[in-house]
Amino acid sequence: MDLKAVIRTVPDFPEPGISFKDITPLLSDPEVFAGIGDAFAERYRGRVDAVVAIESRGFIVGAPLARDLGLPLAVARKKGKLPFDTYEVGYELEYGSAVLEIHTDALAPGARTVVIDDLLATGGTASAVIELVGKLDAEVVECAFIVDLAFLGGSVRLAPVPCYSLISYEE
Ligand code: AMP
Repeated sequence: MDLKAVIRTVPDFPEPGISFKDITPLLSDPEVFAGIGDAFAERYRGRVDAVVAIESRGFIVGAPLARDLGLPLAVARKKGKLPFDTYEVGYELEYGSAVLEIHTDALAPGARTVVIDDLLATGGTASAVIELVGKLDAEVVECAFIVDLAFLGGSVRLAPVPCYSLISYEE
């Protein structure tokens, strides 16, 4: 399955100079979407106790993974969306900053988790979620992505937590 051939690259979105990797063509092909789900399920079956999905495109891959593995799903959301008590972590974006939150009871203490999102760029988002998982006294076994923009060095930033991706761009 050549995922790179299916992903759409949109130049200058949402800002001039950003080359946006649009995953929607992967989702609209049921065979491709199922293949992505199978790849993640195969990798994490028996290795984790819970799935942590990052808003919002991380939900698209995280929810079916939790369902396939029969595991709890925890969601890391943008500030102001979660109704119960939360922990929060701020992080820097290319332009400005953002805050992610997780419910204080989202994971059992000691849970071994996979943190999942559609794409790894600089690693700021995933590293904020690793910090959130730590506040719950749980562990991140690995971070998983469909796409790694490897030339931006996100996986270096997430170390020592390992990263797994289905597609990697070196430039
Ligand atoms: P970062 O925190 O820099 O690793 O950015 C990752 C987050 O921003 C993910 O949730 C992605 O969905 C989104 N993102 C960043 N850069 C891109 C890009 N070039 N194409 C698509 N999504 C992106």
